[in-house]
Amino acid sequence: MPPLSVMFKTVSTDCNLDCSYCYYRESIEGMRVRRRIEPAMLERFVPAYMDYVADTGSASFAWQGGEPLLAGLDFFRNAVALQLRHAHRGTSISNALQTNATLVTDEWATYFSEHNFLVGVSLDGPKEIHDRERKDRGGHGSFERVMAGLERIRRHKVDFNVLCVVGPHNVGMARETMRFFRREGVDYLQFIPAMDFQSIDPEKPPAYLITAEAYGEFLVQVFDEWYGGGAPSISIRTFDNFLQSFLGIQNDLCVHADQCDAGIVVEYNGDIYPCDFYVHPQWKLGNVFEDELATLCTSPRRTAFLEQKQPLPAQCQRCNYRRCCKGGCPRARVSPDDNSKDSDYFCSSYIRFFEHAEAKLTMLRDRLANRLRYLQQVELTLASGGPKQGRNDRCLCGSGRKQKACCADPAFAGSYLWRE
Ligand code: SF4
Ligand code: SF4
Ligand code: SF4
Repeated sequence: MPPLSVMFKTVSTDCNLDCSYCYYRESIEGMRVRRRIEPAMLERFVPAYMDYVADTGSASFAWQGGEPLLAGLDFFRNAVALQLRHAHRGTSISNALQTNATLVTDEWATYFSEHNFLVGVSLDGPKEIHDRERKDRGGHGSFERVMAGLERIRRHKVDFNVLCVVGPHNVGMARETMRFFRREGVDYLQFIPAMDFQSIDPEKPPAYLITAEAYGEFLVQVFDEWYGGGAPSISIRTFDNFLQSFLGIQNDLCVHADQCDAGIVVEYNGDIYPCDFYVHPQWKLGNVFEDELATLCTSPRRTAFLEQKQPLPAQCQRCNYRRCCKGGCPRARVSPDDNSKDSDYFCSSYIRFFEHAEAKLTMLRDRLANRLRYLQQVELTLASGGPKQGRNDRCLCGSGRKQKACCADPAFAGSYLWRE
């Protein structure tokens, strides 16, 4: 079986906040309806899923909402116990959870740490930016509560990243936003543009809250902050993903991959959908209680979904950046019914970004390739009993430069890119 990741809509649309741009506010059952996953659904799903992924050796669970912590700690204790009970020998299990962090107590943080959860924290920048859009239902900003949760996450040494939504509140403040995250010691960051549509409306034309021009400029400024002197010190998922494309490996962000994601989305009642933006009966693949996973994963509806990127719009087929961009997200096509005509709403943002960053991304790609060659050579030399290399020796990557000015350069070697 091919790899399959699963994202749970843990509490459906329920959330203790009410961010202005939330795209998971409405479901088929109404607005912010209180729903929870019943134990019977997990007891049915987890064993079937573990059987399905046994060949791949990798079980990947993502817990999202709404706000997944509203499910309570016992829910996760039960879920993890089920995972361990039903995993086949040799299967590695990962749990990632996306939270607004306002409900993270020491007990939650201890649990995440002990069970190796990767926690994504939604945070849009400093207080004056964050509180403009991320408010609770009483209209109060959530910044202090988020930062208190983040502090507990840090204190308990939980692996975390930050998801920052780019909207009217921060799109013109790229450098300030980046400096805030640096000050806060955030090592892993992800940016996504704010949208004005609901998952329940997959046919509604996409609407975004910022212009493509403004988002392109935001990416350019963040890139310059990130790149610095050529040895980036924090990971920004968008740029890491583009670097993957420059290296010729599959981009693991669906928006810039050859086809739509290979995962599934499971709602609280066991209904299964192909993507977070397509939680609508028209795209329902089946239900945990009624259908075999293997059957719904190979159903014509899922196949049609996975293939919907192709053919790329005519504009993409002619584009110089097609090999790195891959046409963007089909949900963001301005005219989704006419693939031949319109490309992703953010097309001009990507073009602006690539024109600005191409030379530097190419340089990083070459340095990364050199660094990998260097490490392989060091290993081979040591394994064959060869001499230990000095910093003044020619670099083993073949550049002709001294090692201290090349792959052994501490500034160079200090970047997360060469470590990971
Ligand atoms: S915290 Fe997330 S789920 Fe809750 S309202 Fe904000 S964007 Fe929506
Ligand atoms: S529609 Fe967009 S978000 Fe959904 S899987 Fe495809 S590229 Fe990803
Ligand atoms: S940059 Fe624009 S035209 Fe080029 S592949 Fe991406 S969406 Fe298509």
